[in-house]
Amino acid sequence: MQKNENKFTSSLSLKLNGILLLICFIVLGTSSVYLTQMLDRQIDQKIESSTNSIIDSLTIAVHIDTSNHSLSRVVSTLVANSDTHHLSIIANDTQVIVADNNHSFIGQQTKDVFTVAEQQLLIEHLENSSSNMKIENSLLLKVAKINLIDNNIMRLRPHTVLFSYDITPLKLAEEQELYSLLVVSFGAIAMIMFLVNLTHRYVLLSPLSILINTIKMQKETDGLLLSKLTSNDELGILSEEYNQLIQVNAQKEQELRGMLKYVDSITDAVPVSLAYIDKNQQYRFVNKKYRRWFNVSIDDFSGETIPIRLKNKVNDVIQSNIEQALAGQLVEFEIQIPLFDGSKKDVNITYTPHFNDESQVLGIFVCIDDMSKTKESEHQLAAYAQEIEFNNWALEDEKEKAVEASKAKSQFLASMSHEIRTPMNGVIGMLGLLSGGTLTSEQQHRVDVAHGSAHSLLSLINDILDFSKVDAGKMDLESIDFDLRKMLGDFSESMGLQVQEKGVELVLDIAEIDESLIKGDSNRLRQILTNIVSNAAKFTNDGEVVIQVVLTNEGDENCRLDFRVSDTGIGIPKNSISTLFDSFSQVDASTTRKFGGTGLGLAIAKKLCQLMGGDIEVTSLENEGSHFSFHVILQISSASTKIIPPVALDKVNLLVVDDNASNRAALNSQLTHWGANVVTATGGVEAIKMCEERIKDANGSLFDMILIDMEMDDMDGIQLGKELNSDPRFKTVKLILMTPMNYKGGAQYITELGFSGYFPKPTTTLDLFSALSLMNKAEITQTEKYTGTEKVLAITGNTSSVVNNEPSQESRLIIKSSVTIDRSLIDPPHNRDLENLRVLLVEDNKVNRMVAKGLLNKFGITSIDFAINGYAAIDLLKESQNNLPYSIILMDCQMPEMDGYEASRNIREGNAGESNKYLPIIAMTANAMSGDKEKCLSAGMTDYLSKPIVPEQFLKMLKLWGIDKKAANYSVD
Ligand code: ADP
Repeated sequence: MQKNENKFTSSLSLKLNGILLLICFIVLGTSSVYLTQMLDRQIDQKIESSTNSIIDSLTIAVHIDTSNHSLSRVVSTLVANSDTHHLSIIANDTQVIVADNNHSFIGQQTKDVFTVAEQQLLIEHLENSSSNMKIENSLLLKVAKINLIDNNIMRLRPHTVLFSYDITPLKLAEEQELYSLLVVSFGAIAMIMFLVNLTHRYVLLSPLSILINTIKMQKETDGLLLSKLTSNDELGILSEEYNQLIQVNAQKEQELRGMLKYVDSITDAVPVSLAYIDKNQQYRFVNKKYRRWFNVSIDDFSGETIPIRLKNKVNDVIQSNIEQALAGQLVEFEIQIPLFDGSKKDVNITYTPHFNDESQVLGIFVCIDDMSKTKESEHQLAAYAQEIEFNNWALEDEKEKAVEASKAKSQFLASMSHEIRTPMNGVIGMLGLLSGGTLTSEQQHRVDVAHGSAHSLLSLINDILDFSKVDAGKMDLESIDFDLRKMLGDFSESMGLQVQEKGVELVLDIAEIDESLIKGDSNRLRQILTNIVSNAAKFTNDGEVVIQVVLTNEGDENCRLDFRVSDTGIGIPKNSISTLFDSFSQVDASTTRKFGGTGLGLAIAKKLCQLMGGDIEVTSLENEGSHFSFHVILQISSASTKIIPPVALDKVNLLVVDDNASNRAALNSQLTHWGANVVTATGGVEAIKMCEERIKDANGSLFDMILIDMEMDDMDGIQLGKELNSDPRFKTVKLILMTPMNYKGGAQYITELGFSGYFPKPTTTLDLFSALSLMNKAEITQTEKYTGTEKVLAITGNTSSVVNNEPSQESRLIIKSSVTIDRSLIDPPHNRDLENLRVLLVEDNKVNRMVAKGLLNKFGITSIDFAINGYAAIDLLKESQNNLPYSIILMDCQMPEMDGYEASRNIREGNAGESNKYLPIIAMTANAMSGDKEKCLSAGMTDYLSKPIVPEQFLKMLKLWGIDKKAANYSVD
């Protein structure tokens, strides 16, 4: 660098001084030439002026005296007074010398005395007047014309004057002058060069070298080194510019370093190995992870060729992929690469080409993703998948076994159901038949006990079967339209006796039900209610059992039914509540327990609630009572209408007299809901007081009807009725007595007491409708039908009658003299229409045949043929075509040789005769599992009765299909 700098310095100096020197020499050379010429010209002028003065002198001298003597004297004088070396006057025509400073030449011919050069010049002059001068051996020869008077002829004659001068002294003077001029010029140039060089050094080169030194030192140091050069000239500006430049550069460098650090930390932080390889396959960048993997130190990776790091360690795949990427393709592949520590890694490598603006590949970005964990997970997953597959096989196996077990369980349930029901049918049927005979009272009592026990056993079996069915997921719910109010009324009536016999009040509060028809499984709903209310009845010894039901329309046809069954019984200990709904759970499970039961009722209720989209819960306080709340989700039937009472109640004044607050509240809310003006009284005395107040009050109107509870403490209902009836002021008031269910006073007695009618508690919708319709109002002239019920209330003016189509229930509303009660269907269930029925009973079990026959006889049917299997039945049917045809077939399902299903299919196909093809076939089977009914119907049977046979249902079935002949289209699968 030192050498370079010297070169540079000398070179710059050389350049600057060289030019100057060259200029100086050019000026010097030019001046010398000019000076020489000038001096030559001065010599010429000097000679010229000397010549001219000689000629002038000659001319003047000749004018005065043209003698040769005078002429010679003049010539000699002129030569003496000038630098003329030789002066001669020659006559042109003769070439004779007329005068000459050398007197010896006068009169002689020129050719004889003159030098060759003089003669030549003379001749040239005479021939060509332009040539008049010549230099010969430091002598300058010159000729000139002159006219002189020829004394001989006295006329002017042309002559030539020849001069010869020695120019040597002139030349010497000229050279001296020139030399001194050159010496002076060289001195001046040297001085100028010195000064200029000095100026260059101090003004230019020294500051420049300061700047150069600063730059040099800057290169060797990391810090910022500024130039100290300050001046106002260009060098000062250069220094300042330099300082600014390095400051900007330092800042940029700092930013760049920051950026690099940032990029480095990113690339080091990423969980992948990154590198950049240039087109010569040399590393230009690697991140931390890459360095760690391949043991490349930050210093020695750069310029490292790939083969050393990868190719040798892996294989040709890498190399060929790199070449592919360098050819401009994006390459991605998975490979297992060995690392420097000898381990191997599954990696995913991506080579992304780096293109410049001309789409040439400059290098490739390398991204190596560690796939070991993924691969490991994949292996694990594969292992898991395999394990799962094994487990699945095992599970499949287990499942198959479970399905088998479930099938076996279902089969066991079905056969148990069948096998138990068959003898139970015999036991209950026979006991039923026995009790209709002539028995002593003790025998009758024993039969009753046996009958009761058989029913308990049956309900126990039903419970167990139900629970098993729900548990096995075999419980299918029906979805049939039913009258919720009627169902609840029927249910509470069925429970009424059991509750009231213990002196406990049963209250039904259903004011919040406005829909007439609900769609769902009413039997299962009733089963839930039965389980809960019968518990309430069982565990309550005094007080009340209240059933409250609220229907909420949830939109989309769905409705929610909320039930609350509250009792004032023994309550449930806190610690038993959590397990109360578990199967076989009883608070008192000791052998000495007071209350019977299986511990299944609540478990079944809960499962049924859940099956219906609801749930059940309980709150209870020991010795205070329990509150069971449950809800189910059902649907509102598309045929449902709003419940409206049979008479408009908006102007009707009603009084409810009952000492039971719950009943009072239930009646009050229901009647108020329907629009009546209702007041309540807690007893007889209060009621009379209220009536009297109404009489006294001029604005008050008397009650149209008073509903009176029979059993009240202060004054019972009968007494109150008597008193009101005996008072003529209350003649117009209709009195309705609410009796206990087991009240045996008789309709006659009650009407005589002055009551318009009575109904037993708990109060049902039908009871209220029937009672309300008794009001002697002008607007009560229409015929109302309580939708969905089988009770028809017909009202014409003051005459009313109630007809109950239900064979099991007595119509309980008695209306003064106009009352008629149709008891024909109640007891005994004998019907004249049935006497003509001819029945074919297909049954293999002897006892069951006896039971069925006994019942049929009881209904008045005596024409009965028996077949012990399907074949025998078909034979009898064929025969009957020619004799007496059958009216109805009662078909058992499970029979030897040909069962009921096959027999039915045969009959429907006409194999028992064309005329028997459409005979009603009623299945009478102990197969009471879910799907059994459908199975019978799809085999072509008309209807279905499960054993043990309930006489009422049996009778209904006979009437429906035997007499009404409802049989329509049969389809046989
Ligand atoms: P069980 O057939 O024994 O009545 P449940 O499942 O119906 O079976 O009832 C289980 C137990 O719950 C009963 O044994 C009784 O201890 C308790 N229990 C149920 N309802 C009531 C109630 N209303 N009051 C008091 N205890 C009740």
